[in-house]
Amino acid sequence: MSLVSAVPTNQAGVPASKKVAMSVTSARENVRDPAGRWSLRGKTALVTGGSRGIGRAVVEELVALGAAVYTCSCDEEELIERLKQWQAMDLRVAGSVCDVSVQEQRERLLREVADHFGGKLDILVNNAGIAIRKSALEHSVEEYSFVMATNLESAYHLCLLAHPLLKASGSGSIVFVSSIAGVVGLFSGPIYGMTKASLIQLAKNLACEWAKDNIRTNSVAPGYISTSLTEQMFSDKELKDNVMRRTPIRRIGEPEEISSLIAFLCMSGSTYITGQTILVDGGMTINGFYP
Ligand code: NDP
Repeated sequence: MSLVSAVPTNQAGVPASKKVAMSVTSARENVRDPAGRWSLRGKTALVTGGSRGIGRAVVEELVALGAAVYTCSCDEEELIERLKQWQAMDLRVAGSVCDVSVQEQRERLLREVADHFGGKLDILVNNAGIAIRKSALEHSVEEYSFVMATNLESAYHLCLLAHPLLKASGSGSIVFVSSIAGVVGLFSGPIYGMTKASLIQLAKNLACEWAKDNIRTNSVAPGYISTSLTEQMFSDKELKDNVMRRTPIRRIGEPEEISSLIAFLCMSGSTYITGQTILVDGGMTINGFYP
């Protein structure tokens, strides 16, 4: 169900035989046109979980840089409210309800996105995710499946479903929102950490498999960011102080400090970056011991 539609964006098709030569030429042209490299003008993007938090910042960042964006989330009321706000701000965002942990809903989402953008998608940001902060012995079998389906299976299958659209774009970019919990041990729960580590690996494999289709895949691993996901956790002042003490930059991050990097990874300014993971954590993970 499409809730609000924005201006559709499409580009004329280019014969496959000309695409490789064109991509080399346009990479050179980009170097000579810095303004064009730092823009997303004419691009189309799907951002999952855009109603709040990091996803919302990504939607707004991409739109501000010229992209037309489609987003989704589960809570219909919150999504409608957000879409109305964006419409009032004249931002090119459309969206619909989709639980990305469910395959039929993912398939429907991609049909809606294909319709909306006329069969071409340049950017997929796999952002939607949840955390259950329990230790391994506390997790139920159902919780295991829930976290896996929401954080990992969703992203994997959305990539497969989006592949033809991203390939049609001629310069597709996929970004996975991983976490430093996928790089080091954190108390966010082992299943959460497993899903985030798997996204990092998935970005590497798809980078190798899909480079021939002109699709790049990277992951961004945020540290602690101020969103509804961490709100309750940081109501514990001692814990928050502890996190800040361990972080060289001495504060919690903001969603916009993640969305700026994601936007860069979608631009033609990053066309030689693929399969990478960039940690955005105020230095928390490089802090060995500084008394
Ligand atoms: P929020 O809870 O603030 O936002 C999550 C967004 O995802 C919401 O829009 C939510 O909407 C949506 N969402 C959740 N589950 C689903 C689902 N099954 N289907 C579709 N949409 C869904 O979290 P953050 O912004 O903090 O997190 C975004 C991503 O960043 C997550 O992948 C998280 O793991 C990652 N991350 C966050 C960090 C942090 O400190 N905040 C640190 C490291 C990584 P709705 O609930 O309506 O579905």
